[in-house]
Amino acid sequence: MKYLILGSGIAAMAAAEAIRERDKEAEIRMISAERELCFNRPMLIGEFALDGSGAALFEKQQDWPAQFNVDVKLGCRAEAIDREAKTVRLAVPDGRDGSLTAAEPYDKLIYALGAEVRIPPIPGADGDNVYVVRTREDMKEIRAAMKSARSAVVIGGGMLGLEDAWAMREQKLDVAIVEQKQRVAFGQIDQSAGNLMKKRIERMGVPVYVNASVTEIGDGYVSFRQEISANALPAEAEEAGAEVDLVTIPADLVILSTGVTPNSRLGAEAGLEITGRGPKEGAESEVCGGCGACCGQQADEGCGLQAGPCWIAVDQYCRTSDPDIFAAGDCAAVNGRNDAIWDEAREMGRVAGANAARAAAGSAAEADAARSAKKDNIGQVVQTYSPEVQTYYPEEEEIYRPVTAEHIFTGFDTEVFTMADSSGAGTDGVYIRHADVEIFDYQRERYIRVSLQDGIIAGILLINASELAPDLMDAYHRGAGEEEARQIIQRWKDSHEVDFKPAAPFRHR
Ligand SMILES: Cc1cc2nc3c(=O)[nH]c(=O)nc-3n(C[C@H](O)[C@H](O)[C@H](O)COP(=O)(O)OP(=O)(O)OC[C@H]3O[C@@H](n4cnc5c(N)ncnc54)[C@H](O)[C@@H]3O)c2cc1C
Repeated sequence: MKYLILGSGIAAMAAAEAIRERDKEAEIRMISAERELCFNRPMLIGEFALDGSGAALFEKQQDWPAQFNVDVKLGCRAEAIDREAKTVRLAVPDGRDGSLTAAEPYDKLIYALGAEVRIPPIPGADGDNVYVVRTREDMKEIRAAMKSARSAVVIGGGMLGLEDAWAMREQKLDVAIVEQKQRVAFGQIDQSAGNLMKKRIERMGVPVYVNASVTEIGDGYVSFRQEISANALPAEAEEAGAEVDLVTIPADLVILSTGVTPNSRLGAEAGLEITGRGPKEGAESEVCGGCGACCGQQADEGCGLQAGPCWIAVDQYCRTSDPDIFAAGDCAAVNGRNDAIWDEAREMGRVAGANAARAAAGSAAEADAARSAKKDNIGQVVQTYSPEVQTYYPEEEEIYRPVTAEHIFTGFDTEVFTMADSSGAGTDGVYIRHADVEIFDYQRERYIRVSLQDGIIAGILLINASELAPDLMDAYHRGAGEEEARQIIQRWKDSHEVDFKPAAPFRHR
């Protein structure tokens, strides 16, 4: 039995380990374009300040391939999947050891190609002074550029953009953040917290431009259009007839932190089912291209909404629409959702590997026995793609269950902790006003918000109040409600002698 794993990130490694655990004899080969074995990608930004050796980054020891008997081939790019022949075409670099074929065969394929930084269609985004942070090679280039740079602009004020800005500010660069939305960390924090963060970041000498759309990146500068009523929601700003300013700021170095694009193209070209809202080819603005997967619109129509990422569609067992191909990590989505976080990629990888091994072992008798034992409860959630896999009833442990997203940011003299629906935003970016527990300590600039959904804790947002995180997380996992959240906060307030007030009203929609 030959397993071929595409990618060498955490999803790929978790898949390999899960396969080896179940199949001691199988041949497992891992192919990756990256030149180094999996490292701790979330810690990459730490490299701004480190020596570049990467020593702090390696999640796994370098003896991992021997330990799990995995044949790892680095620096090789997968170019096409031939599902009929069950081969993957590779760009095999010269001078390799000769053990790779240009059309590498597989019995079971794990597709774990991760994601890349999304490059927005901004004039100059391909300039020599523009960088992204995804690989160690990227960091080496940025570190080299930082030696002669004095000013930097981070485009995109999400959690990663904030980390980039903080790291460069620590390296004594004049940094600014330009964010298209009305606040930083838009997906994780609400507007009250966003206003607080802006204030604290700017106090440390880093301007934050919100509601700002970059129009051009040039040699040494970034230009953008900014709504003057910068804290208003865009729709309200429009209603109020807000004016727009054209601003240009210096930028010897530009970091794009503008979200990710899943590496799903290879799978889509091979005819695997995909899910999401990809950009329309050739369109000037980034609107949905109508892949049909999410909204059913035809390719030349699309739904007209802003384009989003497109992932390889997988079911709870991380199976794609091809029974011999499993997919995991940032490139794939269960039920059309992927949060692009480490723990999610690792768990999907584990599930993909476990089910690939199980499918490979695939005795019909085992599947049938499992089916009769579990038909009632698990059979209902099976999402089948083709008749061949309809009798597939895996064990409980081989089902992917969504990982709760948590974010921690420490920088600009500020600690942010968020969990689950922390911004209180429901689907489609529409604010749902729950009767949240929302408290502001103006003097010490602390902010606590516990979002409630049907009276149950649905999200946690803490600014400079991280001590509350363990108890609130525990309450969240137990499905506790408002009363308990209030008690936890009250106990904490009593022991901290702080003067909290209800948060200032902010208009949610
Ligand atoms: C700077 C940074 C900070 C982050 N911080 C956090 C954090 O704090 N918390 C958190 O939970 N998550 C964080 N993340 C996200 C997290 O790192 C990812 O969700 C996770 O690494 C995804 O793992 P993966 O295995 O799916 O993909 P990846 O790690 O992207 O691995 C995919 C691999 O596939 C290879 N590949 C791609 N195309 C090809 C091809 N055609 N042929 C061969 N190989 C190919 C790539 O080279 C790569 O090695 C951060 C990410 C970055 C970049």
